[in-house]
Amino acid sequence: MSTLSAEEKYRNFIPEESREYLEKLFAEFKRTVTIEVYTAEGEHREYNDFTLNICRAFNVISDKIELREYAVDSEMGKNRNIIATPTVLISPDEYDIRFLGAPAGEEGRALVEALNLASKGADGISESTKEILEPLEEDRLVKIFASPTCPYCPGQAINAFKAAVARPDKISAWNISTLDNENMAHEYKVGSVPHTDINDTVTFTGLEPEEKFMLQLLFLKPLEEVVEEQRAAKAETTEDTVYEDVDLAIIGGGPAGMSAGIYAKRSGLSCIILEKQGVGGQVALTPKVENYPGFTNIQGFELVEILGSHAREYTDIQQFAEVKDVKYGPRIEITTDEKNYRAKGVLLATGVNVRMLGVPGEDKFYGHGVSYCATCDGNFYKGGKAVIVGGGNTALTDALHLKHLGIETTIVHRGDKFRAEKVLQDSVNREGINIIWNSQVTEIIGEDQVESARIVNKDGTETILDTDVVFVAIGHTANTELAEKLGCELRPDGFIKVDPTQRTSVERVYAAGDVTGGVRQIITATGQGAAAALTAFDDFTRLFDDIKDNTKNIW
Ligand code: NAP
Repeated sequence: MSTLSAEEKYRNFIPEESREYLEKLFAEFKRTVTIEVYTAEGEHREYNDFTLNICRAFNVISDKIELREYAVDSEMGKNRNIIATPTVLISPDEYDIRFLGAPAGEEGRALVEALNLASKGADGISESTKEILEPLEEDRLVKIFASPTCPYCPGQAINAFKAAVARPDKISAWNISTLDNENMAHEYKVGSVPHTDINDTVTFTGLEPEEKFMLQLLFLKPLEEVVEEQRAAKAETTEDTVYEDVDLAIIGGGPAGMSAGIYAKRSGLSCIILEKQGVGGQVALTPKVENYPGFTNIQGFELVEILGSHAREYTDIQQFAEVKDVKYGPRIEITTDEKNYRAKGVLLATGVNVRMLGVPGEDKFYGHGVSYCATCDGNFYKGGKAVIVGGGNTALTDALHLKHLGIETTIVHRGDKFRAEKVLQDSVNREGINIIWNSQVTEIIGEDQVESARIVNKDGTETILDTDVVFVAIGHTANTELAEKLGCELRPDGFIKVDPTQRTSVERVYAAGDVTGGVRQIITATGQGAAAALTAFDDFTRLFDDIKDNTKNIW
């Protein structure tokens, strides 16, 4: 019989690749972070056990993490105003940053980022966030409703944590897991995550840019109402900009960007990966991946973990670092909220964004029965009915995911055949998922929540189909804003034009992955990322030779 010590048991609770990454991250903490965990016997036992295990594991693998455990009904629990179990508090003598519910999956990622932020304190907060929140005089309680399968959620939770670290005297930031706090999610009418509530007064759905989030927090109203005023008030700063120099700046931390990071570093280039959300791109949203060689069947977020830990072996990945601006020149300048970089070359692996239907009701019910992420929001509709629009791999993968959650699912497709892979079509048929062919959803109908969808067939016949949710899975549009700023030529379908070696039309600017269009598979994205890094290496060597020849002064 195995006789693992308690320490070994907790250590093994974290998979090896993640453990190595965390040990390295925690070792760099400048100061100790305290975790307080509040649990109870009985209800939610599995969530309580999971939370205790993960916090004990963190404590075992790092002497920079101090752990205190309490029963929810203890004196301390009352003092700290604990209202749910499990609850995790991060450095509670300094901040009110808390996790209500077990921090599993993507919420685990938010927990790690919360620890990281607490270890840095004000040093981890951008000047612009500090500046925006400085005038805040009233208290703010930010509740971020999240789910373990929502890759957008950690980004929004981190916005709130940053605010709580910037103004600990005024701001509380709570990450609330909808999985084990169903009643609270219901009370706050959460239909899509991340769902943000500030002071029970304003609510927002989706991940927001940091500056927008901070302004809304300060003014306690939607940004649209205050942005002009704020812009005018913001004085132009003339301080000298500080740059970090790298050979290759990779923008985008999906499979293309991560693979490029590995190849660039192995070629001897210094590089940085800048990712505006968490790593993974569209793969993180895919419930199941069955066509990436080497893995017969793996969940999207698991594959992302593996790719991420491999890439981190070689290169620094800055998550939640949105590139705000790029400027072309002998050194290409890249601006994020926290740091500025100067690079010999840039690889755009910026991926794609979901395409919207553009029908009445779509905007109105976003977050209340319209969703673009079945992986994030499927759980809310267990036992209910769902419509999925689309006929590609995403629509069919999502339909299977929802069916497995016990949701009565109907696919509405505008054509008479799917473009999805045959293996997915076969699974959809086997599962008996309803399909409405040759039809479009032309309106999404309801009062406060989606109640039905108007479906119009090619022959003009109209049906009102009862449904609790409409998932839109009709493809994507390329994220080409930075490419356009750099002057890269686009293809007629809006994707970035590249040659077979991933060069764009602009010297020292490369593109790889979904943003270049084509078959858009994980395997092709990783291949293109690798090719782009090797091309950059070749180009930089050639250009350096030009300098040595004194024929050209490139840098
Ligand atoms: P997609 O392949 O572009 O399919 C989009 C679907 O939406 C098509 O069926 C299209 O219909 C339909 N559509 C487009 N605009 C529409 C509109 N305005 N109204 C109604 N329907 C509309 O997109 P995707 O499924 O998101 O896949 C994107 C890429 O990722 C693909 O390359 C795919 O192979 C890849 N992917 C792979 C996997 C996997 O391998 N496991 C999983 C997910 C995605 P038509 O067919 O009539 O044009």
